[in-house]
Amino acid sequence: MDGIAALLRWYVDQGVDEAIGEVPVDRFATPPPPPAAAIAMPAVAPAARAPTALRAQPPAAPPMARAPVPLESPQLVEDARALAESCRSLAELEAAIRGFEGCALKRTAKNTVFADGTPGAPVMIVGEAPGADEDRVGKPFVGVSGQLMDRMMGAIGLSRDGGFYITNILFWRPPGNRTPTTTEQGMCLAFTRRHIELARPKVLVLAGGVSVKAVLDTTEGITRLRGKWTTYPLGDGTQIPTLPTFHPAYLLRTPASKRQSWQDLLAIDRKLKELAS
Ligand code: URA
Repeated sequence: MDGIAALLRWYVDQGVDEAIGEVPVDRFATPPPPPAAAIAMPAVAPAARAPTALRAQPPAAPPMARAPVPLESPQLVEDARALAESCRSLAELEAAIRGFEGCALKRTAKNTVFADGTPGAPVMIVGEAPGADEDRVGKPFVGVSGQLMDRMMGAIGLSRDGGFYITNILFWRPPGNRTPTTTEQGMCLAFTRRHIELARPKVLVLAGGVSVKAVLDTTEGITRLRGKWTTYPLGDGTQIPTLPTFHPAYLLRTPASKRQSWQDLLAIDRKLKELAS
């Protein structure tokens, strides 16, 4: 018993805080030999001695399947982009993302986390990635950072019920919250760009450095960009006013930065009033 407790403690110390399968997999084990039927030579049937025309025809070869694409292939990003572009509504996009099997993150996630709030709301918020709570519930920003986000938006009179629409760059929780690979980010970003295009918010809010860097395609850090309005171009040339702001998880760790976030909230409020007038 002590041994098992020590092993569990060791796992936790290594950052392994979650089981992602029902049964353990020994990846060092020698793979079992292929089934005998797969390697046995076909027996020579009496029909083989019959005249050619009377011989049973061999079964037709199965159609050539596309070779599996490695999970880090740039082709998958192209596939995601083409699929996203083909979607004509948010409902189609959601279905496409739920059915997309190209992203390795999906294999370990419990749920696809698409969006919450009101589609078509004046403000769209794009965060980073679902955490453990979001993965369990299947909705973005439902944990402690989400609760802070709701309180912040509530302070300027906006709620998920009509006031804002919220999503993330990633639709699946990275296992153990690891950093997603470039390909994983590229695939999800292709969907996120289409997501913004279809939601057409009046104002786009990018919460946290990961979201800012990915959506604005910049290497500038969040501390330089936060609070500075920029624009996000849609395919038809419309420029969406866009505000980078701190991620609520950062604010929970660094409460002194809430003053700056309050300025950002007031700026969003002013922008909405300006756009409405
Ligand atoms: N942090 C995010 O960026 N998104 C969530 O959905 C939850 C936490």
